[in-house]
Amino acid sequence: MTEILNRSKYHYWMWRQEGTSDKLSIHYQQMRVLKKKLRSEQRKIESAKRQSKFTDIMSLSDRNDKNFYTLINNQRNLRSSVTSILKYDNKIINTEEEILDTWASYYEKLATPVDNPDFDDTYKLIVEQDISALTDTYTNNRDTLAPVSEKEVVQIINSLKNGKAPDASRVTCEHLKFGGKTLSYVLTSIITFSFSNHIIPTVFKNGLACPVFKKKGKPKEDPGSYRKITITNPVGKLTEKLHLVRNKDNISNIQSPLQKGFTQGEIPLVAALILTELHTEAKENGNPLIIALTDAKSAFDSKWKKLVNSLVNYYWITKLKSEASEKSSLNLLNYTDAEFGSIHSIWNTCGSEPYSTLRACIKSKLACNTYTLQCDKSKFSKRQISAICPLCGIEDENRLHFILRCSSLDNVRNSFIQSLKTFIKDVVTTKLYDELFSSEINTLQLIIDCSVFHFLSRGDVFKVECITRGLCFKLHQVRSNLLR
Ligand SMILES: [Zn+2]
Repeated sequence: MTEILNRSKYHYWMWRQEGTSDKLSIHYQQMRVLKKKLRSEQRKIESAKRQSKFTDIMSLSDRNDKNFYTLINNQRNLRSSVTSILKYDNKIINTEEEILDTWASYYEKLATPVDNPDFDDTYKLIVEQDISALTDTYTNNRDTLAPVSEKEVVQIINSLKNGKAPDASRVTCEHLKFGGKTLSYVLTSIITFSFSNHIIPTVFKNGLACPVFKKKGKPKEDPGSYRKITITNPVGKLTEKLHLVRNKDNISNIQSPLQKGFTQGEIPLVAALILTELHTEAKENGNPLIIALTDAKSAFDSKWKKLVNSLVNYYWITKLKSEASEKSSLNLLNYTDAEFGSIHSIWNTCGSEPYSTLRACIKSKLACNTYTLQCDKSKFSKRQISAICPLCGIEDENRLHFILRCSSLDNVRNSFIQSLKTFIKDVVTTKLYDELFSSEINTLQLIIDCSVFHFLSRGDVFKVECITRGLCFKLHQVRSNLLR
């Protein structure tokens, strides 16, 4: 742009030097062309800037508070635009003023009660009667609320979070915090007045509504793809909090134990778990189950589903691990690293070739201790059968004897152990190498499930699995043949 500007200036200067105002001059013509080019460049840069800001907001996570408030600040700045187009009421809106107006009327319409012909009139009447009875109870027959003390007010002010975007009145929590004694005195009087008269001034309830895009993949131009978040007045927030701390215990006693949202010490995710379990149970028992969702569109957006899945998976994997830890037969299997959806390295490294799969099968039986050896036969026969190795007759045949010790299998074993040692020597330190091979238990662990050793890279695990899968299968083959 600078270059175009300079060139344009040059031609302007040359044109002036000619001393005439001849618009057919070559310099004048050049200047016109360059000015046009300059404006086009400007527009391109502006659009790229807008596009990149747009992309940033779209990819913003719902929980990213800091960026969210930056976005809100940007949005409040009239010069910047976050949405360049909206579709509403079959109209396409694309100027900033019109977009703001559209949001206003969209939210106004959402907040205005409508008469739906499908609505259950009897139920509607009951609700209306409830509302009027409650309004009556709370306005006429209720004792006034106790006045608040300045100490309480200061305490609550200090508990408010810093760094939030200002509301429509441009007041932030920091203003209250640094307002000094005069401000806390005045606020105490106002809130006490509000409590004793059961009136909350409208200005306390005013807020700045900010549409935040829910998720990529939803139509950007549909107002329904945005979640409305309201930045409320800090004095209003203070009043609410003062009221809430007094009623906290009452509320948790009265509300349903199943309410998990907006409840201290609870998270909405737990409600998701309860719901999922309920659904599973109803399905298994063939019971009918009716779930009513007041906002199904939001409740079932993919984020929610993902959260439910991850929680359910977390529950089962934790249960699985805790049960596995109680089984001594699984002592050589690395289940602590297990994750939902990821495959254990025994299976992950063998590919899909039938011969390879067969070897992985023997390997996994050994890892899970379900491969039957002489000591298992003895155990199952309540010691009627001897546990002594049928091949060499030296000692009990358990996993350690079969894989590392049995002299009848030495010939098969040696070449595999040799290549395992050669490989390991290259990838670990001498100290680790010695530790792995000087202890039979460590060597056995390396052969059965090496993924437990985190110093081995993925590639190393792959290679070790290859060698040991072959070793275990060959041992199995030769043992079977000898016993036949
Ligand atoms: Zn033996």
